Amino acid sequence: MNEAAAAPRQTGIQRWPELHPTTQAAFNRVLWDDGLSRSDIASKLGLSRTRLTTITRDLEEAGLLVQGRREQRASTGRPAEMLHAVTTAYQFLGLHLRGTGVIAALVDLDGRVVWQNSAALRTESPRELVELAASWLQETTTSFRVAAVAVCGPLGRAGLDPASQRIRGISEQLQAEFTAEWSVPLWIEDDVVALTAFEQWPQLGEGQDDMVLISVGEEIGFGLVTDRKIVRGAHGTAGRFDHIPVLPDGPECPLGHHGCLWSVCSTTAVVRAAPGARSMSEVAARADAGDPVCADVMARAADGLGTAAGYLVNLLDPDKVVLTGESHTVLRGRFEVFHSALRRVHLDGGKVEVGMPDFDFVEWARAAAAFAVYRTLSGQGF
Ligand SMILES: [Zn+2]
Repeated sequence: MNEAAAAPRQTGIQRWPELHPTTQAAFNRVLWDDGLSRSDIASKLGLSRTRLTTITRDLEEAGLLVQGRREQRASTGRPAEMLHAVTTAYQFLGLHLRGTGVIAALVDLDGRVVWQNSAALRTESPRELVELAASWLQETTTSFRVAAVAVCGPLGRAGLDPASQRIRGISEQLQAEFTAEWSVPLWIEDDVVALTAFEQWPQLGEGQDDMVLISVGEEIGFGLVTDRKIVRGAHGTAGRFDHIPVLPDGPECPLGHHGCLWSVCSTTAVVRAAPGARSMSEVAARADAGDPVCADVMARAADGLGTAAGYLVNLLDPDKVVLTGESHTVLRGRFEVFHSALRRVHLDGGKVEVGMPDFDFVEWARAAAAFAVYRTLSGQGF
């Protein structure tokens, strides 16, 4: 890690400084690339030398950038002075709610978790959730400087999880009260959107500008990134791909479709299709043990997931498809079923990179915190 990490940690609550969009863009570049020379920043952003001097001075004064060692640059053959982002300058608090359980993580600008906690809610009141966020904010600011808070949960998958209603209950009034009291924003967001920010932002330095994320669970969520921006749509509901037809004459879903993605691939539908089963893991285990009904159910799920992924690849031509949630249960031992369905639908026929990162419950809180970083750095502040 660069020497910026050794900078003394600031504490307290302090909103992110108001930066000119070009200054913010310069900082983001240095952060994503884990350090850049002045000439690299100037050429990536098309800046004059004078303009760059002003920008780097502003960022150094804000405590966001430090000068590092001179490093040999392959492009010029000459040593160049490196600039590094101070990744510990600010922290971001993320809360994830599922049912009545809340998990929280605090991350640095590079997504590193520096604190985590969990609690259970006792009432239906959204105010209790906001007060919990405030108490964790107060606790963490004794050791860290926190710039924003995000609360995430299954907002786009309303109906099955009461967490959705509880988070929706956080009114604009309640958010405004929080900001007035604590001086930092409190954002609420769908957790799959947060997860998309979490998966996408660390990859920006490597040129991953377009991505599709599919999260399999009781509902199936989609995160879409084009040209480095998360696609939200006109009403914040883009990416509702969960009921796209994938299997002619397939089982019926609660919305009355036959053979939609939900009807073959959601954990709810998979469990329903296997008599006596209580979880998707159990259906998968029975399939592995040779149960022909469960094997068919799981193969159908993998085929459906590949078909839906193929349609999305045709639509967006992403650098990568990221599969999360219960995707690993669907695809364990069935990758070929998934890939052959994807190839069947994908019209270009080229190779598609598919990633399936390890994921646990803390990662959802980390994703919520990453969303707070994303929203802050992308200039979509208050
Ligand atoms: Zn459906």
